[in-house]
Amino acid sequence: MNINPRRTPLIAGNWKMNLDHLQAIAFVQKLAWNLKDSRHDVAAVEVAVFPPFTDLRSVQTLISADKLPLAFGAQDVSAHDSGAYTGEISGAFLAQLECQYVIIGHSERRTLHNESDEQVASKVTAALKHNLVPVICVGESTEDLAVHGPSAVPVAQLRAALAGVTNAVDIVVAYEPVWAIGSGQAATPEQAEQVAAALRGVLSDTLGQDVADKTRILYGGSVKSSNIAAFMREPNVDGALVGGASLDIPEFSSIIRYQKHVGL
Ligand code: PEP
Repeated sequence: MNINPRRTPLIAGNWKMNLDHLQAIAFVQKLAWNLKDSRHDVAAVEVAVFPPFTDLRSVQTLISADKLPLAFGAQDVSAHDSGAYTGEISGAFLAQLECQYVIIGHSERRTLHNESDEQVASKVTAALKHNLVPVICVGESTEDLAVHGPSAVPVAQLRAALAGVTNAVDIVVAYEPVWAIGSGQAATPEQAEQVAAALRGVLSDTLGQDVADKTRILYGGSVKSSNIAAFMREPNVDGALVGGASLDIPEFSSIIRYQKHVGL
């Protein structure tokens, strides 16, 4: 079930602040074995993991040495290239580690670290400068939903995030309603589709129809093996950003293999 042949589905695991570099090595090895044993078709569904910064070198070395069919990325990036920015990590450093992706504007960064739309936009520009694919996270809180309705806030956040992006680019957008992250209460597939369609409209307005057609829009928020297939049936949902369930190998592997679920 690949709804749009122009877009390879992406299942991305956001580890948040879990698993140190030794645990990361064991985890990635086991995940790769699990996918191999279950004959996962890597061309049909791309898999990416997003470990903490301190794990990236170990994950890079393992994936490269064993030629594992997994992509990886970081959970954040600095808007700056280098200099007096204590505690920050440059896109140049991530590119040196062969990261393909970087998550930008996750709701935990926006709320716990007060990241503004402007900072998110600067980080998107920095990621693209270093040939990293930004996974731009947008999503409304429960209050936003009540006051502004379903798509207004995610649409405004995406417009703001793309402020510095001018030409055709490789980006991923993740619609993650704040109320669904880690709550066990996922959006309905219809809700996800409604917002994803609105976000594709923003991509078309700002970057053109061609970019809009090829950009993957993920849904994130309490995704599990029991609900992933319903999201993936929606025409504008091209994958998932998975938090908690991405730390459980059988569960994450089952999410990745959603095409094999009974009834599809
Ligand atoms: C996330 O961390 O981006 C996320 C969606 O978390 P969870 O899947 O646990 O809701």
